[in-house]
Amino acid sequence: MTEIWAETALLPGGWAADVLVRLDDAGRIAAVTPGAEAPAGAARRGALLPAPVNLHSHAFQRAMAGLTEARGPDPADSFWTWRRLMYRFLDQLGPDEVQVIAAYVQMQMAEAGYAAVGEFHYLHNAPGGGAYADRAELSGRIAAAAAETGLGLTLLPVFYQYGGCDLRPLAPGQDRFFNTPETFAALHDGAARALAALPPDARLGIAPHSLRAADPAGLAAVLPLAGDGPVHIHVAEQQAEVDELIAHRGARPVEWLLANAPVDARWCLIHATQMVAEETLAMAASGAVAGLCPITESSLGDGIFDGVRFLGAGGAIGIGSDSNIRISLSEELRTLEYSQRLRDRARAVLATPERSTGRRLWEAVAAGGAQAAGRASGAIAPGLWADLVALDTGAGELLGLSGDRLLDSFAFQGDDRLVSDLWSAGRHIVTGGRHVAHAPITARYGALVTRLRGLL
Ligand code: ZN
Repeated sequence: MTEIWAETALLPGGWAADVLVRLDDAGRIAAVTPGAEAPAGAARRGALLPAPVNLHSHAFQRAMAGLTEARGPDPADSFWTWRRLMYRFLDQLGPDEVQVIAAYVQMQMAEAGYAAVGEFHYLHNAPGGGAYADRAELSGRIAAAAAETGLGLTLLPVFYQYGGCDLRPLAPGQDRFFNTPETFAALHDGAARALAALPPDARLGIAPHSLRAADPAGLAAVLPLAGDGPVHIHVAEQQAEVDELIAHRGARPVEWLLANAPVDARWCLIHATQMVAEETLAMAASGAVAGLCPITESSLGDGIFDGVRFLGAGGAIGIGSDSNIRISLSEELRTLEYSQRLRDRARAVLATPERSTGRRLWEAVAAGGAQAAGRASGAIAPGLWADLVALDTGAGELLGLSGDRLLDSFAFQGDDRLVSDLWSAGRHIVTGGRHVAHAPITARYGALVTRLRGLL
């Protein structure tokens, strides 16, 4: 049995001092005792928090971070020009490359304070569009990366059938994503087999890519595969897709989805940045998690999520790093809050009378991320997976602080260098701020991106 003792910890009932957390051999929290002496042999740490899930990632995009910041030949550089470069980049990625990048991304997520990732995995076919001999080859590579890094994995194979609401076929750059409902069912089977090799906290869900890429019949065909597991979808990221949905289905994307699909607490709606107030309130009432990716949504110019209205209506939120242009938990939290401040010209917008901004955001994304990943975690409580992050309270940014101010300092003046340790379902994979396999994973990634960057 592992024992962790912390000067302070954020428990479901609030902050507690001198907290002893015992983990069982399966990686679950067995007991939580505030006001305890530190036993001999216990790991002694500063502040202990429930580690959130990074609920939305496309791992391969990490390797093109920073390469798309110049203005292209198009008159208005935009999301859509970014997407074209992304497709060209994809031609260079085979199974080995996918695994190397995924391991590096997962390592960086752990070092940033995330205990698990929801990998929205849509790269399925070989370059040129043919299926691999094992249709789930690349899903298996994401799982293999998780086996090496120890990061918790909720794998979300993506169903992507059409190039738009008019049911046009996929463009040449998109043929690696293609599936019919039938081939997707086979892929989903293969992904389940790949996950069986991982520890039991791994989960499988499904992800219809978007309402552009899955028509109503396709959506209805693949939904039963989810069972009681997670269902993720890119819902309303860009104004162009709102216009397309209205033209073809007579409703805005969130409005259409809520009226035509069994949206409930299993669902996670990614990038709900294009909603009118009625949609925001209806989505909050559905129980679905809003999957927010504030850094990527800023990078792509998507728009600002209405966090004030959504949280005010009791909506559930979580954080994802999506394009992985930057992997930073602290920065995602402050970017979300700052987006609200810039829009509303106000301060501490997401704080409540009882909770500071940092505390409210942390608790919301820990609970919402776990819900979205179908993962029994998100709080330091017996029976849950031991997804824990320790902050270095000896660092200048945190010295002399306790309670909510500790989290505010992490989110607003600190960064991920304050993360000292990370446990994912009890696996102690970050210690002293470094992932336990940092050197070999980084070396492999370095060799790969040096080659890739020479080709682009
Ligand atoms: Zn995405």
